[in-house]
Amino acid sequence: MDLTKLEKQILHDNKSLSFDQAIELTEIKSEQVLELTSLARKVTVKYKGDGVFLRSIISAKTGDCSEDCSFCSQSVHFSSPISKHSLLDPDEVLEAAIQSQKMGAFDFCIVIAVKGPSKSQFQKVLESIKLVKEKTNLEIGCSLGSLTRDQAFALGKAGVWRYNHNLESCRDFFPNICTTHTYDERLDTAKLVKEAGMELCCGGIIGMGETVEQRIKFAFEIKELDPHTVPINFLNPRPGTPLGHLKPIPSIEAVKTIAIWRLIMPDKVLMSGGGREITLRDLQSMGVVAGANGMIIGNYLTTEGRPPEDDLRMIEDLQMPIKDRYNNEV
Ligand code: SF4
Repeated sequence: MDLTKLEKQILHDNKSLSFDQAIELTEIKSEQVLELTSLARKVTVKYKGDGVFLRSIISAKTGDCSEDCSFCSQSVHFSSPISKHSLLDPDEVLEAAIQSQKMGAFDFCIVIAVKGPSKSQFQKVLESIKLVKEKTNLEIGCSLGSLTRDQAFALGKAGVWRYNHNLESCRDFFPNICTTHTYDERLDTAKLVKEAGMELCCGGIIGMGETVEQRIKFAFEIKELDPHTVPINFLNPRPGTPLGHLKPIPSIEAVKTIAIWRLIMPDKVLMSGGGREITLRDLQSMGVVAGANGMIIGNYLTTEGRPPEDDLRMIEDLQMPIKDRYNNEV
């Protein structure tokens, strides 16, 4: 594929990448990936600036989720060895928030493993939000599963700036990974988040057995929702889950996917999260250059990330500034 022509189309004529062009890009040989990465970097800088956005997450309730998402070790349906705990008290959430602030994150996301929060869980999360807002400078995000209309508006009122609700995979593939709720249910909450005035954070997981074409379809489905942030996670096959036998996708394939998603969604924060260490391995900095201009630092929900210092050093080595949600340097 002629990437010089593509550069002219996207950067100079401001014409977006079509679905067919994205499919064509999936077929380029590995020797062209560096050229694609370079184009993706130029597109990132033009549409989103040169900064990197850091988030940290806390699993405020781990395990015993009623749903059967086949990649997830927190499902009650599978026997994955994880350390479960019930919903943390506000002072425990605050402690984690203070650590996150010290690591350099501007965005702190409270995550609980549920289909949707019960009344008492929701109330307790609201108390945590209030406390973290009072005691830190962090922007608060939440990921509490499906929301009712009242809950969505209550979170917006409480000052939650961003709500994460991933679609996980494209519409076609979704029934292969979850049978206890539908793609449309996920879509409903994603739309409700925006109605309630919060920024939407919506992405999913690559490498669950979907085809390369389905990865592209998925990116276009997310683009349609116009989220602020798009988490691009890579499957970290967890023992005991139905996807536990899968192997991570090749590192160069992951870089190519990030670059193509960047060209599809030039103005989004593409946040690399779970699975990046085992998938990108030595190519992590190439993933950032390819367009993953956001990253979750510290640990994930049930798996450990690499030490935050390693990520901070990588960003420093790349000479990219760390930015906050307003694109100010922090
Ligand atoms: S992905 Fe979320 S909804 Fe699905 S099983 Fe895990 S915690 Fe539950």
